[in-house]
Amino acid sequence: MANAMIGQLGGQPILILPEGAMRSTGKDAQRNNIAAARAVADAVRTTLGPKGMDKMLVDSIGDIVITNDGVTILEEMDIEHPAAKMMVEIAKTQNEEVGDGTTTAVIIAGELLKKAEDLLEQEIHPTVITRGFRLAKDETLKILEQIGKPVSIDDTESLKKIAMTSMYGKSAEKASAHLATVVVDAIKMVAEKNNGKIQVDSDNVKREKKHGGSSEDTALVRGIVVDKEVVHPAMPKTVKEAKIALLDVALEVKETETDAEIRITSPDQMQAFIEQEQKMLKDMVEKVVKSGANVLLCQKGIDDVAQHYLAKKGILSCRRVKKSDMEALAKATGGRIISNLDDLSTEDLGYAKVVEERKVAGESMTFVEECKDPKAVTILVRGSTEHVVDEINRSIEDAVGAVASALEEGKIVAGAGSPEAEVSNRLRKFAEKFSGREQLAIKAFADAVEVVPRSLAENGGLDPIDTLVELRAAHEKGNVTYGVDLTNGKISDAFTAGVIEPLKVKTQAIMSAGEAAEMILRIDDVITAGRLEKGPSMPSGMDHEE
Ligand code: ADP
Ligand code: MG
Repeated sequence: MANAMIGQLGGQPILILPEGAMRSTGKDAQRNNIAAARAVADAVRTTLGPKGMDKMLVDSIGDIVITNDGVTILEEMDIEHPAAKMMVEIAKTQNEEVGDGTTTAVIIAGELLKKAEDLLEQEIHPTVITRGFRLAKDETLKILEQIGKPVSIDDTESLKKIAMTSMYGKSAEKASAHLATVVVDAIKMVAEKNNGKIQVDSDNVKREKKHGGSSEDTALVRGIVVDKEVVHPAMPKTVKEAKIALLDVALEVKETETDAEIRITSPDQMQAFIEQEQKMLKDMVEKVVKSGANVLLCQKGIDDVAQHYLAKKGILSCRRVKKSDMEALAKATGGRIISNLDDLSTEDLGYAKVVEERKVAGESMTFVEECKDPKAVTILVRGSTEHVVDEINRSIEDAVGAVASALEEGKIVAGAGSPEAEVSNRLRKFAEKFSGREQLAIKAFADAVEVVPRSLAENGGLDPIDTLVELRAAHEKGNVTYGVDLTNGKISDAFTAGVIEPLKVKTQAIMSAGEAAEMILRIDDVITAGRLEKGPSMPSGMDHEE
């Protein structure tokens, strides 16, 4: 398959690609791409839904990630095949746009390609397939819009259900009711109304992880949590009406960096030298005091002597605060990060009602609460071990994304495979309007979206065929919200069962899956440059498919 690109000139073959370059064309290229993309979809399919399994990913240095999250799995996998990489892109886009539904998007794309492969076998041209797919995709978006129901910010119950649906089946499930409350409260605090539209900047919901304790201890903090202790024991542990200096400069005397030696010949000189240093540090602290600050959060170090002076002045101080925290603090407290002490003035100080050091799982953290900007909130993510905290953190991220997009879009749908079943049903009817090959392509699209209820059933140990038959019958009768009920192994109304998702998860998944499938199908020529350092070797991923 991988012959170099050869042209003909008067019977004489001429090489137009450099040595080592690979080329595969026509059906070979298509098959190869489809196989690679499907392999990616297969890798995540078993994680779909509340009964989906987790994956354990071990990287080259032995670090472990245990997750059920589609985008995380794909990001951690070291994928090289270009078509497979396009599938990973779908997951990333989905994650950025909605923050949930990554597995769904990827497996729909995989299934679309599988169906397309069947059509290609029947000698249907790729452009006919992609045209049919595009018609089907546009129709699907319309159908989804129609079955979407409005949701308001006051509908706390529905919002909690959305959060819980996105967390089902993750390590977070045990505490999902509690976590859902935390997530919904957080979003309500940061949501803004703009000409009747709700806007949620998920970045305003900061997450700070701390292992030890249980996921039930996860809590919402109205402000910013800094994972640092108050630097000196004599400093206050609580400051009310905090005026906060944010410094990006060390309160230290720089060590002489040149080779210049300082010769000290007498104890007096030694004493003078120390006093000189102490005076410099005292002057620095004086500048902080003069600004009127009673809290100092410093991105760099604070010398012991400076700590001593700060403590004497009753200034609560933390050192080596993370840069990202400093930025969040500046935004939340309305303060300005100062990198030259001489510039520090009263106007640069941030405000918070309370700054307090508290013990969390035996370690001290500093809470900056009730800031100038009430939209600054932090979810303090807890769980027994680091791996658990990481997975709960990812679940919370999904839930925040889900609730936020439900509010921004203002529409929700029932989940559990019900929208996909409804889409499939209506698309089959829509297909009747077209003739011949296009109709086949639209029907293939209709079959492909059923991969969602089918996988939910399969992963839940139900018979996928029986389930799909029942589901089709229910939707034919007009039960739009019927989906796979994994608690009793039947099909039921997903809305009543509390399985609710934002409409955007579904529309975005269809859009990116459709586009990716189309893009992959349109490729009939893959030209891979030779590896620079390795010379003419097979590009990896190109040599072992099928
Ligand atoms: P994704 O990465 O696509 O969000 P998930 O593993 O989170 O993948 O699974 C999402 C799917 O699981 C959605 O189709 C959703 O409706 C379904 N689902 C979630 N909770 C339930 C439930 N309790 N019963 C049935 N289906 C559920
Ligand atoms: Mg999900």
